[in-house]
This record gives sequence, structure tokens and C-alpha cells, in this order.
Amino acid sequence: MTVTSTHPTRFQFASDNYAGVCPEAWEAMAEANRGYASSYGEDPWTARASERLREIFETDCEVFFVFNGTAANSLALASLCQSYHSIICHEMAHIETDECGAAEFFSNGTKVLLVRGDNGKVDPAEVVHAVKRRSDIHYPKPKVLSLTQATELGTVYSVDELQAIAELARRHKLRIHMDGARFSNAVASLGVAPKEITWKAGVDVLCFGGTKNGFAIGEAVVFFNKELAYEFEYRCKQAGQLASKMRFLTAPWVGMLENDMWLTRAGNANRCARLLESQLRSIDGVDVMYPSQANAVFVDLPPQLAEMLREMGWHFYTFIGSGGARFMCSWETTEADVDALVKDIQAASAQLKGEKA
Ligand SMILES: *Cc1c(COP(=O)(O)O)cnc(C)c1O
Repeated sequence: MTVTSTHPTRFQFASDNYAGVCPEAWEAMAEANRGYASSYGEDPWTARASERLREIFETDCEVFFVFNGTAANSLALASLCQSYHSIICHEMAHIETDECGAAEFFSNGTKVLLVRGDNGKVDPAEVVHAVKRRSDIHYPKPKVLSLTQATELGTVYSVDELQAIAELARRHKLRIHMDGARFSNAVASLGVAPKEITWKAGVDVLCFGGTKNGFAIGEAVVFFNKELAYEFEYRCKQAGQLASKMRFLTAPWVGMLENDMWLTRAGNANRCARLLESQLRSIDGVDVMYPSQANAVFVDLPPQLAEMLREMGWHFYTFIGSGGARFMCSWETTEADVDALVKDIQAASAQLKGEKA
């Protein structure tokens, strides 16, 4: 027996890239669509977007715009190391599990070394171990530490954690790359100036995600260490990542960075996740797996309950063992969406209990 639903497919918690384009990004594209403009980034939108990013980070950084996160990460990483180096990251990192080896490919074979750590964050002791394990010429020389902020498990590195990692990286001569596909959610969550968790915490290059923040498309690669940006435009072009109608990639940045809409939109996603987390914690048999600090809630659901939810039309990803489910909120998620999901989980849970009794 299943609980019936009035909505056949419900994508609200599947992923933040299931959401549409938010109005600010859309309107900026419409505005950029009036008439002609120079191509390949020689347009006023691109200049303004770069300038706004420099204002937000309060520093003179070098900015590039690419189509997606895989390209942003792998091209940025390639410019941080040689082929005989290695990149240290968490075993759950997107660059390891979801980018089809692009980091290794674009850096011509650089090895990715995996470390563990609770809640999706690298354990500093494990990083030191990866560096010190060997120091001879036969080991791929550790050169880069890649951090994901917010992490793949919906947690956020605090300023203190990042400062400690920066100190460690300095000591071991590691450069720091930050995968910020959900950087907006991290900043909104911490409520700090963006510089506090980037260049002031030793980050050399940030891949700043637009897509999951509410853009149609596009990520910014922000080099705080400008020397590392040397000839980066050639890497982008060679990789097929130089947009010819660049203004449509960059206008949304102008629209979203205006009036801090990037933080408002990310804040909505975070708030919905927090609400969902607190409601789920009160349901029997549903265990929240990690503290929800950004826009995701991971829960350990009994497999039958997950199955019932799917039959009710809910789409969500399952990772890490059987039953572990991820509910992801976006700029578009509403409190009513959260209530509807919680109600269905409560109903399914009650029904399961009834069947067991
Ligand atoms: C979504 C995501 C990316 C970018 O993925 P693309 O599909 O290549 O745009 C990068 N890192 C993390 C952690 C992500 O969640």
C-alpha cells in the first residue's frame, strides 16, 4: 500500500541545479540582449562583472568566466601544478568523484591524493600524513590542497578551520584551491566578508559557482594569487571554455552581485535546509547524518521509507550506503515545499510503524 500524492513528480529537493534561473540573473541577460556588444569578453558586462567581483573580495584579483564547474576546477588546478605534482583533496570531493578525471586530464596526469575527514572536511592530520608519507623523488610531489566550500556533505569550514588549514598549507608549501560551487551558500551561512574565507585564509584560486546560486550557466575563476593566472585565458580557449557571446555568461554576475542578491538567494536555500533539518530531527526513524550548515540535508532513511517517498513523486539523490538520502534546497525552494516534504515523510513513517505494529 502506498500513500497517494496529488503531484506526480516533485523535483524541489533533487538538486540545486534542478531549479530555474532566478529573476535577477534572467533580467540581466535580457538587458544584455539589447543590441550588439563586442565578443569574447571585450564587452562592458564582463568588465563590470570582474570589477564587482574585485569589490566583493576587496582585492585586486584576476577573474575569468567559464561554462561549468568541472572546467573551472580542472583548469584552475592545472595552473597550480605540474604533471609530476599531486593534489590533495577529501575522498568525497567533486574533483575526485564527479569530474571524470578532468583534474588529472587537464594537468597532464597530476595525481589526486585522497584524504578522509569527518563531515566532508579534510582532516588536517591526514593532509600532513599525505605530504610527509614520502619525500623522495619517486612520490608525486604534493603541491595543491583542494577544499570544497560549502562541502559536498552540506557542511561549511569555519574561518578558524580555514586559518588552521592555511597555516598548515604554508608550512608544507601547498597552494590552496577552493571548489566554491556553493560558495554563496557558505558565505551566507557564515555571515562573514568573502575575503575572510578566501585570500585572507590563504586561498590562491576560487572557483565561484553561479549555476547553483540561480544562474542559467557559468562559474567564475578568481585568482587571488595573480601570478598563477599567467596565460589562463589560453587554457580556457584550448579547453573550449572561452564563450564567444561572453556577455550572457557575465551579465548574470552583474545582476546577482547587485544589492547582494547572490547572498539573498543562497540564504533562502540555507534557511529552507535548516527548517527541513529541524523538522526531520523530530521524526522517528529518520536520522540527520551531518549538521546542515548550507543548503543540503542528508538523512539516513529506512530503505522502505525512501521507496515510499519516491512513489509519492519525490526526487532525491541517495549516496553513501543504503537509504542515505540527500535533500537539496535552492533559491527557488519555499517553506511550503519543506512542509509538503515533511508531511509526506511523517505520513510514510507513521504508515511504516503501523505495518510493523
Ligand atoms: C555542482 C558542483 C560542481 C560543478 O559541476 P559541473 O556539473 O561541472 O558544473 C563542482 N563542485 C561541486 C562540489 C559541485 O557540487
